[in-house]
Amino acid sequence: SLQRVYNFSAGPAVLPAEVVRTVQEELPSYRRSGMSIMEISHRSSLFTDLQETAETDLRKLMQIPDNYDVLFLQGGGTLQFAMTAMNLAVKTKRVGFIDSGHWAQRAMEETALVKGTKAVVIASSKNQKYTQLPKIEPITGQFDYLHLTVNNTIEGTMYHQIPAELKKFPLVGDLSSIILGYNYQVTDFDLIYAGAQKNIGPAGLTVVILKHELLQNAPELPAMLSYPKQVQKHSALNTPPVFAIYVAGLVFKWLLAQGGVAAMQEKNEQKAQLLYAEIENSKLFKSPVAVEDRSLTNIPFVTGSAQLNQLFVAEAQAVGLLNLKGHRSVGGMRASLYNAMPLAGVKRLVEFMQEFERQHG
Ligand code: PMP
Repeated sequence: SLQRVYNFSAGPAVLPAEVVRTVQEELPSYRRSGMSIMEISHRSSLFTDLQETAETDLRKLMQIPDNYDVLFLQGGGTLQFAMTAMNLAVKTKRVGFIDSGHWAQRAMEETALVKGTKAVVIASSKNQKYTQLPKIEPITGQFDYLHLTVNNTIEGTMYHQIPAELKKFPLVGDLSSIILGYNYQVTDFDLIYAGAQKNIGPAGLTVVILKHELLQNAPELPAMLSYPKQVQKHSALNTPPVFAIYVAGLVFKWLLAQGGVAAMQEKNEQKAQLLYAEIENSKLFKSPVAVEDRSLTNIPFVTGSAQLNQLFVAEAQAVGLLNLKGHRSVGGMRASLYNAMPLAGVKRLVEFMQEFERQHG
């Protein structure tokens, strides 16, 4: 049997136990090939079938229309900060950013490093220390596209709805920490990207979903940085991250068996509700985040004392509740409740918070 803890890390994050078990069982000989998945050729039908099935399942899960391409790339969310600009910032060369936190800032910095491109802040909640989402006023000016970090992994805010004002422009969404966890409409976006290591599978894979017509204006670029060339070669213009795509495929099958994204959203709402209710009812723990903007997947909380925060994280770890330390830029605690975190894990965390408050509150 697998000896598992409750892993609340923001990423790399918990995978479904069933998936880990399947990987274990299939590892020595994938589909009776006598080789593990890590050893097979990326040009073999064993792999190309696997990748095709993964794409089909992802299309089903997210209801991705036929006029969108799906790419399995490398380089993480971070490469997409620049790759989006290289391919899409081609006319006005201006990109509008919703400055909602650390990862939005990183996206802006990388975009600004793409030669000739201008990253423009069109809304920001920096003055509120990103404890709420930026208010979006009517947008004036010309932009090739807008960029939105849909779930702010560090600050714990998310857009429950995509603001209508943003849909007046081509919209790029960073869904790294919420993809497949909440029922967003793909058609609200022109391009979606997400690093796999939170809600999809192992690090090393980045999923990009983009409207086919976006490719028309892309300039000539080195192959690895070019969406059109990646699309043309079905994400296999070089050796793809075979193992990561394999595990992602298993996670997609698992999600389908769970009832898909709508069912996951319901479970995620239930889990988040349980933790937020505990925070609200507690005299010790507080949420720094505005109620209406709270994330389902990344939930920061604090006590009034840095010492108590530290003690909480240490004592939680001792009972098998791992990686609850908040990001170094904000401190305190953070519980990431991705799809693969079972309700039982959140219940255990809430019990532990109550015990901790009885002892130290
Ligand atoms: N965007 C968001 C919202 C993230 O949470 C992260 C990673 N935590 C990134 C981008 C960067 O991802 P990667 O490490 O895959 O480059």
